[in-house]
Amino acid sequence: MKKRILLLAGGQSGEHEVSLMSARSVLAALPRDQFDVTPVVISKQGRWLPPTDTARALETGEAQGGGDLVLHRVASAEGYDAVFPLLHGPMGEDGTIQGLLTLAGIPFVGSGVLGSAASMDKVMTKQVLASAGVPQVAWKLATRRDWKDRPESVKQSAEELGFPLFVKPANLGSSVGISKVSRPEELTAALDLAFSLDRRVILEAMTRHKPREVEVGILGNDAPIASPVGELSFDADFYDYETKYTAGRAQMHIPARLPQDVAKRVRDLALTAFRALDCAGLSRVDFFYVEETGELFLNEVNTMPGFTTTSMYPKLFEAAGISYSDLVTRLVNLALEER
Ligand code: ATP
Ligand code: MG
Ligand code: MG
Ligand code: MG
Repeated sequence: MKKRILLLAGGQSGEHEVSLMSARSVLAALPRDQFDVTPVVISKQGRWLPPTDTARALETGEAQGGGDLVLHRVASAEGYDAVFPLLHGPMGEDGTIQGLLTLAGIPFVGSGVLGSAASMDKVMTKQVLASAGVPQVAWKLATRRDWKDRPESVKQSAEELGFPLFVKPANLGSSVGISKVSRPEELTAALDLAFSLDRRVILEAMTRHKPREVEVGILGNDAPIASPVGELSFDADFYDYETKYTAGRAQMHIPARLPQDVAKRVRDLALTAFRALDCAGLSRVDFFYVEETGELFLNEVNTMPGFTTTSMYPKLFEAAGISYSDLVTRLVNLALEER
């Protein structure tokens, strides 16, 4: 019997368009002799699109408006054997959809409520990983309330970290809302922007030298494996939205040109992080490598990484001998696995 799969894409976050790009690739790659796949696009307003609107959204790469609340439709998606929530950012990658699916008793691809929520929030990730002994840059948390009532203390936190520093919404992705702040005068605009997108904001020290950015894919549930390490290079101050999604602006190097012991440390730390955060299925774990000092810092864990055929995560596993179509098949099977 073919497994019936519901593929969810789009969603309410700033990464709506990215998700639709990934969904097109996954939809084309899931083997039809094993799976009956139904795509559903969630609009930017969080509404469930009927089939014709879903097809149009997949084509145009964006969806507004729409019908029923996701809440009502997900809870009654009982006819499916598994759901592939190919959603990034808040209301998709953060444990919310995962909670609904858990309540509904439907298996799904990727991390559960805990792993999704803990990995989505950059502050929570830092706290959990600090207790697991994973090296990270210095950081401070500020809440919207802090910024409103005690702006001087937020600025004080920034001074303590030193400039340049990074200001980020705690729960987002694709570099949306992230600023590199080189001077104190740029701080207010960066914080205003981040707080317009999230109630929690993280301030992060920058590594002393511009870091190399290396990433590793993790695949599995309770016995996860790590892919080869990849590296991103780009001609920009940092890996911002434009650099991420403009063709030709960034280059992928797989495997990364790293000393063997560094590559091994990256893979080991990524597996430690995956377990500490209780991730499942897949994650892309990103690091900063400071060549000058040999230091390695874990930057973040993405529980639903970009998934087009040219995205880093599938490319990393392709280098390990797992084709894109095998990879998506394995992910669905991991969702169905008894644990
Ligand atoms: P993704 O799309 O991978 O989910 P994101 O939106 O979660 O990304 P980050 O990975 O935290 O954002 O940061 C985006 C980019 O900003 C990094 O890839 C890096 O280029 C730069 N950056 C972020 N934090 C730091 C830091 N502490 N030091 C140096 N560079 C940083
Ligand atoms: Mg991220
Ligand atoms: Mg992300
Ligand atoms: Mg990132």
